[in-house]
Amino acid sequence: MIQFASVTKSYPSGSIALDDVSFEIPENDFLFLVGPSGAGKTTVLKLIMRQIMPTSGSVMVDDTEISTPQFTQVPVLRRAIGMVFQDFKILRDKSIFENIAISLTILGLSKAEIEEKVTAALDIVGLQTRADAFPVQLSAGELQRIAIARAVVGDRSIILADEPTGNLDPKTAWDIMEIFKKLEGTRTIIIATHNADIVNHMKKRVLTIIDGKLADDAKKGGYRL
Ligand code: ADP
Repeated sequence: MIQFASVTKSYPSGSIALDDVSFEIPENDFLFLVGPSGAGKTTVLKLIMRQIMPTSGSVMVDDTEISTPQFTQVPVLRRAIGMVFQDFKILRDKSIFENIAISLTILGLSKAEIEEKVTAALDIVGLQTRADAFPVQLSAGELQRIAIARAVVGDRSIILADEPTGNLDPKTAWDIMEIFKKLEGTRTIIIATHNADIVNHMKKRVLTIIDGKLADDAKKGGYRL
């Protein structure tokens, strides 16, 4: 469960990124976060990752308040979260296998465990045969699949995707969305997006943020901006 209670985030510059925002996201929920550019979507994701702290209010993840200076389990929190970005953030000088394995290597897992988990992640995104390829050999859609494999590997319980289809053509965007759909119910999935077509067709929960305020929380929502 992720819970925002009256979360306000303002910056020293005076800009208010979030203004008294409250919502609850149960475990394994699938939802879209929509809103115009600058509305506060990325700020929500950064608060969940604890890259930033709220100015007031609280952020809870799995019954633990992560928005206090006393919260010391940041590495544990980050290990539970997989991120997917608009620009993929795949390391160009590493193979596909190495890109997906990075977090497991850092954790010191055995070679056999890493092999098993990376293979399972590649299986989910349908790129089993590309483990030894290098990023330059892959299309944009394939790179985003690799980014999703990297986000799910190691049994992460939360996936945060920030404009994951922003750099993709419409057909490829739908292929990527099919993968997220396949993951539905296995993890909490939050997708920040401008893609009205996808949001309208998927009929999932939609949190709409406008000017830092939660403007709408619809169960089977659409993109109404
Ligand atoms: P979105 O993801 O919906 O485009 P953001 O969450 O990135 O919106 O930004 C929300 C608001 O907060 C914007 O007005 C943005 O300019 C402001 N903002 C974001 N990060 C910073 C920062 N580090 N310093 C000052 N203002 C910021």
